[in-house]
Amino acid sequence: MIDQNIIEIQNEINDVCAKVGRDPSEVTLIAVSKTKPYTDIEEAMKSGCLDYGENKVQELDQKYDLLPKDINWHMIGHLQRNKVKYLVGKVKMIHSVDSLRLANQIEKEFAKKDLIADILIEVNMAGEESKFGIKPEETEELIREISKLEHVKVCGLMTIAPYTLEPEDNRVYFKKLKELSVDIDSKNIDNVTMSVLSMGMSGDYRVAIEEGSTMIRVGTKIFGERNYNI
Ligand SMILES: *Cc1c(COP(=O)(O)O)cnc(C)c1O
Repeated sequence: MIDQNIIEIQNEINDVCAKVGRDPSEVTLIAVSKTKPYTDIEEAMKSGCLDYGENKVQELDQKYDLLPKDINWHMIGHLQRNKVKYLVGKVKMIHSVDSLRLANQIEKEFAKKDLIADILIEVNMAGEESKFGIKPEETEELIREISKLEHVKVCGLMTIAPYTLEPEDNRVYFKKLKELSVDIDSKNIDNVTMSVLSMGMSGDYRVAIEEGSTMIRVGTKIFGERNYNI
């Protein structure tokens, strides 16, 4: 079931890319396994998928210990500074950096092991009060500050679009995130690339790919509904 769901989404990625003239190898599917048991990931891995997303440090840590080391772990949730130390050497990418204070903490912890943290800047494109993320107009300035850190590398931008039943509603936010990324890329800031655009979830990943997403984060459509009451 789970592995089959992943294969179906991968086929969809191929279809959408063919439609808009993109190379499907530019789009990575991150299977968002938060709240799900590690055995679900074992099943998912039968599809060949090696990229998994978690939003809690402790959960990522536990699954890291139980599962094969060739998995690429993506930290996609809000990150508290006191938890950064548990991610060192374990994560492929941190998608949710939205302040200099957090970036400074990542610098401090990754420097201890002389490792470089690949990060994305989370942008709150729709200006939703309830969401984390920096304002679009403050993004470049934050990136300029973070670019000075030796053990942190900004690789692109991430956004969580509003919840909606109509994926077309979110096209405008994906378009704007892409524009922001092109704009920042044109500034040629040292130690910064804009190669990653992490956008698109179960409800809207097709639209996100059409608008240039390079990482889609899909949970429900792969693992089923989440139960937070257990
Ligand atoms: C949970 C989560 C997802 C996956 O959401 P689905 O709608 O289940 O696909 C994607 N991104 C982030 C940041 C999440 O927290």
